[in-house]
Amino acid sequence: MKLRPYQQKNADEILACLARGVRGTLYALPTAGGKTATVVRGVIREVVNLGWPTVFLVHRRELLHQAVRTLARVGIQASVVDQDHDLDPLALVHVCSIDTLKARKKRLAGWLLTIKLVVVDEAHHAVAAGWQALLEDFTNALILGVTATPYRGDGKPLGVLFNEAVRGPSVAELTPRWLCPAEVWEPWSPDTSGVPISRGDFAVGELDRLMNNDKITKMAMNAYAARMPGEPAIVFCVSIAHARRAAAISAAYGWRAIAVDGEMSDTDRDSAIDGLASGYYQHLMSCQLVNEGTDIPVVSGAINLRPTKSTQLKKQQDGRVLRTHFGKTRSCIIDMAGGANLHGLPDADLLWTLEDGLIPIRHRTIRCPKCHRRFEPGPFCPSCSMAFPHWRQTTLPVLAGVSEHILRKLPTQELERFVASEIDIRHIARAKGLANSWIYHASQRLRERQNERRRA
Ligand SMILES: [Zn+2]
Repeated sequence: MKLRPYQQKNADEILACLARGVRGTLYALPTAGGKTATVVRGVIREVVNLGWPTVFLVHRRELLHQAVRTLARVGIQASVVDQDHDLDPLALVHVCSIDTLKARKKRLAGWLLTIKLVVVDEAHHAVAAGWQALLEDFTNALILGVTATPYRGDGKPLGVLFNEAVRGPSVAELTPRWLCPAEVWEPWSPDTSGVPISRGDFAVGELDRLMNNDKITKMAMNAYAARMPGEPAIVFCVSIAHARRAAAISAAYGWRAIAVDGEMSDTDRDSAIDGLASGYYQHLMSCQLVNEGTDIPVVSGAINLRPTKSTQLKKQQDGRVLRTHFGKTRSCIIDMAGGANLHGLPDADLLWTLEDGLIPIRHRTIRCPKCHRRFEPGPFCPSCSMAFPHWRQTTLPVLAGVSEHILRKLPTQELERFVASEIDIRHIARAKGLANSWIYHASQRLRERQNERRRA
């Protein structure tokens, strides 16, 4: 299998960073964009040909096996280092559990020095205690971090670990060819103003009192029945009790539903996930578990009953429905958590830099009062065709609040994705010292995009 054009381009950019000896490179690509394939086929295969001893670091069991399988497909027999497997010093590529390496790092100190490349999967965790110290022990290695969310859970930057970023295409650019388009429906939204914040997100106890409410769950079930009856959906819940209660309500509506949580055995959890994938269950209620890395491509629905302040968590939730699958033409998100309003639609672009982390911008969307669809500003509701003659008033400048200092750090092409008005264009041009000809062409491109929306 060949790499997709953008994967090949990104792999070449990563290899260029390695050739220049950049100590820390961060590769950002949306969920389901094919990060592992890009890195394994495009990067690891190349450095293995150069004889570089390579470590692929993962923090969960499923990811470990996934990495070993992807490596095997390109003919690389990787050794596994986890609690059941010891180091095979003869192998060139090692897939390692982070926890195991942390525990054995004294014993393996000599070997750590021989490694030339360390790939860190889901690198947004790399600032966690112990990870950074472990990476520093790979004294002679270059570090390649890979993530869909290139900032911490609270939006802060990934710290001192990475010096250069390779930016893959955005969700919007990957849709519809490589990702499935998602519709957002918002029958109701919570008032979270009274919920205290703890460690950057809503305090779970208070949030549970707000959201573990049968009326809200029933509203969501009615919207599900109207928009995607019978389609496999993940239901994001606040607590284990909330997940179980929501599953009971779903069952009362006649759907087959199961709640999964961290207290379940791996076998029970895997069989619940398989049941959703095979079509036996319609609803999988999840508390924290299915946010990250659980790939069930057939899933075409999400019911979000878990408000979050964390853009990272929201992007992980959205990512669960964006995978393409045979016969799947669109996904539906029933948003009872006010998520699209706060963090943007699933294909909203996010502004970030390595030094500043996630840069807050206002996401402009319209909620149709008639059918409750939430959509990118345009003259008509894409679902019921209700007219919004004043839609342009919602396309106020997006970048106005972003400092020129930050704009200068970002590629112009990246910034242009955010342009919503002429004011944005002038702001970019001023910050980056761009010529009038760029302003002229960027304004034309903006008008073309707006015209396209009018025709759609
Ligand atoms: Zn509508």
